[in-house]
This record gives sequence, C-alpha cells and structure tokens, in this order.
Amino acid sequence: MTRQPKPPARQITAAELAEQQRFGALVRQYYLDRYADPPLAFVRTFGCQQNVADSERLCGMLAEMGFGFTDTPEGAAVILFNTCAVREHAEDRVFGNLGALKAVKRRRPGTLIGVCGCMAQQEHVAARLKASFPHVGLVFGTHVLHRLPELIWEALTGPGRVIEIPEDAVIAEDIPVRRDGRFKAWLPVMYGCDNFCSYCVVPYVRGRERSRDPAVILREAEELAAAGYKEITLLGQNVNSYAGGITFPQLLERINAIPGDFLIRFMTSHPKDATPALFDAIAACEKVARHFHLPFQSGSDRILEAMNRGYTRAHYLSLIQYAKDKIPGVTFTSDVIVGFPGEERADFEQTLDLLRRVEFASLFTFIFSPRKGTPAAALPDPTPAQVKSAWFAEMTALQEEISGRRLAQMVGQTRRVLIESAEDGQLETRLPENTVIRVPYAGDPAAVIGRRAWVTVTQARSWMLQGVLDADSVSD
Ligand code: SAM
Ligand code: SF4
Repeated sequence: MTRQPKPPARQITAAELAEQQRFGALVRQYYLDRYADPPLAFVRTFGCQQNVADSERLCGMLAEMGFGFTDTPEGAAVILFNTCAVREHAEDRVFGNLGALKAVKRRRPGTLIGVCGCMAQQEHVAARLKASFPHVGLVFGTHVLHRLPELIWEALTGPGRVIEIPEDAVIAEDIPVRRDGRFKAWLPVMYGCDNFCSYCVVPYVRGRERSRDPAVILREAEELAAAGYKEITLLGQNVNSYAGGITFPQLLERINAIPGDFLIRFMTSHPKDATPALFDAIAACEKVARHFHLPFQSGSDRILEAMNRGYTRAHYLSLIQYAKDKIPGVTFTSDVIVGFPGEERADFEQTLDLLRRVEFASLFTFIFSPRKGTPAAALPDPTPAQVKSAWFAEMTALQEEISGRRLAQMVGQTRRVLIESAEDGQLETRLPENTVIRVPYAGDPAAVIGRRAWVTVTQARSWMLQGVLDADSVSD
C-alpha cells in the first residue's frame, strides 16, 4: 500500500444508475418467481457512523428491490455484514459472527451471505474470506456499494462467488436511503481521507477525499428538516477539509439558514485543519451544537509526530482555548490511543495532563491495534500488553473522575433536551453535548419521543444525569 496522488472524484452517471435499477428489477423478479412471500434481508453494521450511513443506502436499495427486513439472520434471503477495519477486535468480531452463519447456510442453502465495507476492501481479508468462509457468496468493497443490485444478481445467477473490490473511488448520488432513525439523521458531506495517520487503515480502505456537491447536501438537509428530523449530523473523516467549492464553515452557515428547529452536528474534525473560521462560524450559527468531537490521539508531541498527525499539543490546546473563549458553554469529546509503538510512561503522562487541562465531557479510548499495511504496524513496539492495559485503566479512571465532576456541576441546571427513548417508566433524553438525562414519566412515551422539552437536573450518576421533565414544555 503506497500513498497515491489524489485522482479527481468521479460521479456515477444517470446511465449507471439506471443500469443498477434494471438489475434491481431482475433481482425482484428472481424472488417473485421462486417464493410466495417477499424476500427478507438482514443487514448488520459494524463500526462508525459512516458505515451506518452506508448501510442506510444498502437498505434503501434492498427495499427498492422488494426486500423486507428482519433483525435475525434466520429466515433472511440475503444477509449482509457491513464491516469495520479500524481495529483488529472489530475484524475478529466479524469473523466470529460469520462463522456462526455456516449453520444458517446449511439449513437454507438459498441464503446469500455477503460481506462488504472497510474490511472487505482489504485484499488479504477478501482472500481469507474466499479460502476459509465458503458459505460467503458475495464480498464487495467500499467503492461499489451503489452496485449492490448488480452484485446480488451476479451472486444469485452467476457461476460462482462474487468478489468485487476495485480501487477507484466514486461519488454515487441519488441512491435510495432507508433511514434507521425517525428524528436523527446522518448526512455524509465527504468520503475518504487523505491524512494517512500512521496507525490508521481508513485512507487505504475508503480512498482519497472526495466532497459531495454542496447543492446536493443542501437539498438533502432541506428534505430532512421538512420531514421533521431534529438532528442532522454531517459526516466526514475530516470535515474541515471539505472542498465542494465552498468551505466547511460556509456549508455550516448555509445549512444553518434552512428553516426549522433542528440541531446540526458534525464529525469528525481534525485539529490540524480546525481553523478559527470554523469556531467563528459555529459561534454565529444558532443551530450548530455547542459541542465538538476533536480527536487528539496523544498528548505527547513525540508520539503525535510518529502518528503523522500534523499538529502539536500546544496547537491543540490553543484551539480548545480559542473555542472556549468564543463559544460560551462549549464542550468537547475526543478519541485517544494508548500504547502507540514506542510510547513511554512520560508520553502517557502528557496524555493524562491533556485530559486534565481540557476536561472532556467524555472520551473514546482505544489501545493501539496494528493494522496491516500501515506504517505504525511495522514499528518496534516494546511496551508489554499488560502495561498498555494498565495505562488504559488509569486513563479511564481519570476520565471518569473528570466526567463525574462535570456532571455533578450540572445539578440544578434546566436545559432543553431531545427525548430519545423510554424504558422502565423513564424517558432517556439527551443534551447537545450527548450527555444523557433520565427522567421519570408516567404518560405515553410514544407521544413525546422525538420531541424536545425542558428538563431540570436533580442528580448526577457516574455516566448520566437524573432529572425532572417540565411536561408542559414538550414541543416539536
Ligand atoms: N477520522 C477520524 C479522526 O481522525 O479522528 C476518526 C477515524 S477512526 C474511524 C476513529 C478512531 O479510531 C480514531 O480517532 C482513532 O482514535 C481510532 N483508531 C484508528 N486506528 C486505530 C488503530 N490502529 N488502533 C487503535 N485505535 C485506532
Ligand atoms: Fe484515520 Fe487519521 Fe484519516 Fe482519521 S484523519 S480517518 S485517524 S487517517
């Protein structure tokens, strides 16, 4: 795997789209000819929000082909695993779950089992699937998701298994979407990544950065707002390098101007490209959440350099300070990796120090996982696994203390929340910074889920808050 120059992003043509619709009609007819009931699909998503957004498109195409959906593999005519390659653990889970599908295929030989997404885009994984998972009939990478109808047709009617992992990345618009949520929507603004952080497989499996046309993004955002969505999350591996003819801050301003009561979130920002202009735009856009997910990965300059992150801890801290000064009440979450090759205790302590200084609302913490083909996987890594695990536990404990302190300070506050779900007589509501507040509720949850209300925080627990709902304040 070598770093390639950036090719221009090609958009699929109307003729290509029509061709897929033709294959879709053939698939629909295939099942109509053979079975009395409409076929069912089981789609399981592993990994990040981009994968969730991709699965919503896979399901959109499946629905157009006449599939219904089931939440168990038993009884499904098509089983699709949309996979993640970011850490070894994620891949192991997919292989484990795939192994369990052997029995399903034995019982129902007509079942088509497919593996797609980031894992499938790696040649060594495709080779392993081919050699050791004969019950998997379809393997396809991240760049051909829009060709699902054609690939299913080939797998159903062709002579053998279908493996399709081309390298050339495209932008596919006008793909039908079957959204998982009724009031929270994912809206990809760009695909791929050009950053090549030394530990990360994403640039290899998702290709070079390519930005969607702002007119298409705005149209989709307008449709979501008109359909009553309460939260729109703009997705990209590094949204600050959005290059669709306008800048990301300009895109935020345009979406902010769409009428409606909805919150705009975005992820992920890369500290090397997060500019004051971004924070200024957020300060000026009332619909944008006062919350940033800004991964720092390590608090040590030596490790940041080895990670090829392109910024220093001082730069990161200056960004945080700028945002805190500019946006009252702003909160931060972040990603951090423990045990990068060559990380020493002194480096790790720099990470702990950064945690104390920023006071993140919460953290996504990972132990370094070597990824085949990335530069970091080839580095000497003398730190024993037990030491890394101990550091990980130490960092988690520190963050728990910081999060707990922050939550305790919120007792007594009255805040506007989104009511998301209900369980055991309690509503689960969420603040823009993602903190959960549970409130007792005696009424019918279905009447309030997906709406907003004011909640007063009464008690802090370890990872969430307890509160009381002002029932008269529930509004759309
Ligand atoms: N593009 C985003 C960014 O740069 O922050 C995140 C992409 S990645 C899917 C999500 C997180 O996984 C990263 O922020 C990083 O903390 C973690 N990650 C990526 N590669 C990893 C690896 N090889 N080992 C452990 N964690 C990893
Ligand atoms: Fe991976 Fe770095 Fe790109 Fe994020 S910015 S996806 S960590 S290479």
